[in-house]
Amino acid sequence: MDFSDTKEEAAFRAEAREWIADNAPTYLFETLSTSGFGSTRTGEYDPLTEAKKWQKKKADAGWACIQWPKEYGGRAATPIQSVIWNQEEGVYSRLSGTFIIGQGMCAPTMMAYASEEHKQEYVPKIASGEEIWCQLFSEPHGGSDLAGLRTRAEKDGDDWVINGQKIWTSGAQHSDYGILITRTDPEVPKHKGLTMFFLDMRSDGVDIRPIKQANGDSGFNEVYFDNVRIPDSQRLGGVGEGWKVSLTTLMNERLAIGGGITTGFPEIKELVDELRLASGSAIADAAVRSKLADWYAKSAGLKNTASRAISALSRGEVPGPENSIGKLVAGGMMQDIAKFAIDLQGLSGAIMDPEIAAGSARLQAMLMRSPAVRIEGGTDQILRNIISERVLGLPEDMRADKGVPFNKIPTGG
Ligand SMILES: Cc1cc2nc3c(=O)[nH]c(=O)nc-3n(C[C@H](O)[C@H](O)[C@H](O)COP(=O)(O)OP(=O)(O)OC[C@H]3O[C@@H](n4cnc5c(N)ncnc54)[C@H](O)[C@@H]3O)c2cc1C
Repeated sequence: MDFSDTKEEAAFRAEAREWIADNAPTYLFETLSTSGFGSTRTGEYDPLTEAKKWQKKKADAGWACIQWPKEYGGRAATPIQSVIWNQEEGVYSRLSGTFIIGQGMCAPTMMAYASEEHKQEYVPKIASGEEIWCQLFSEPHGGSDLAGLRTRAEKDGDDWVINGQKIWTSGAQHSDYGILITRTDPEVPKHKGLTMFFLDMRSDGVDIRPIKQANGDSGFNEVYFDNVRIPDSQRLGGVGEGWKVSLTTLMNERLAIGGGITTGFPEIKELVDELRLASGSAIADAAVRSKLADWYAKSAGLKNTASRAISALSRGEVPGPENSIGKLVAGGMMQDIAKFAIDLQGLSGAIMDPEIAAGSARLQAMLMRSPAVRIEGGTDQILRNIISERVLGLPEDMRADKGVPFNKIPTGG
């Protein structure tokens, strides 16, 4: 592994750094620095407006979605240049949360499967943040087992008519468009009867209901479809080939989520450096030091694993299933750290209001966010299955419904 920049990489880093120094919304630096863990704090400014402004500014200067082809809003940068850009963008990248699904998952799917006309029409506006997209995959009956989904699409003339329900759709309430996976044939095995579309989220019959979360936000939604019509021209991939299309989306999801992993280690380190317990300084306490050493070893392992992936990118290789390790380790670690840090602070650890105690509120945000990290983009158990089957070569998970027509699978309802 060689972590230092090549001459070309160093020149690119300097160019990116200079542009960011001249153009970033520095008035948001303080509040964004205490953001993260699922919340974007922009003080007196509206987060969505600020996010759109920064995204548009980047797009106009050629710094948005830099790895994409130029004709779709990017600058055809290499994967390693993309890593460098993300490192340099730093806290300002926290404004981009609203766009992650559109840019990280929907756009790559559109680029792979939409018509040229649709690509030209929609993809550049995803890059510039002018239009927000969401991913309508999970359902009450289809999460880890996505292919168990039940939302139906039936052909009627040149349109498809959609009925059913999605859930956990992040950002649907702000979205202009979404990619939607449906069941078009219930008489074939579950992976074979699926078809993908994209649709206008303001279509008649789309009902979006935000879900209230424990932290008070509504990051995701239930979305109901009541006879929603989608033109056949908005089908992505062939009829019955939705599973193949969804793999493009999900592969990009793991890369998009994997790119932004946080562990909570810097936060716990900062806390124990400053905190005083009844027995003296927290950092001098043997039990605290033992925990800290364990988390340090894990975060160093994660950092080196990430660096190994970056070195592989630099050599032009594609990251493999071993990248599932990052989210698996970081999610559990973040949850352990948040629980420990809150306990350590005693009663003051319960404060959630950043205006009263920014440090404590940040740890509370971490605690509320950590279960989501262990579920989104593949649960801990599913990632363990991936690692055991595809990295370690262990026997496959049992799949009792393999090859059984979808409408013959006993579901109990
Ligand atoms: C913050 C957040 C944002 C999300 N955003 C979106 C979004 O924008 N769009 C979208 O479509 N979805 C979204 N999701 C949904 C997410 O993809 C699903 O929650 C996830 O795939 C798990 O599915 P599920 O919730 O139905 O749980 P289930 O699949 O029902 O799992 C329940 C439990 O069973 C375990 N389990 C399931 N199958 C196996 C197995 N084979 N072996 C061992 N254990 C198993 C799971 O690990 C879990 O512990 C989001 C979720 C979160 C938390």
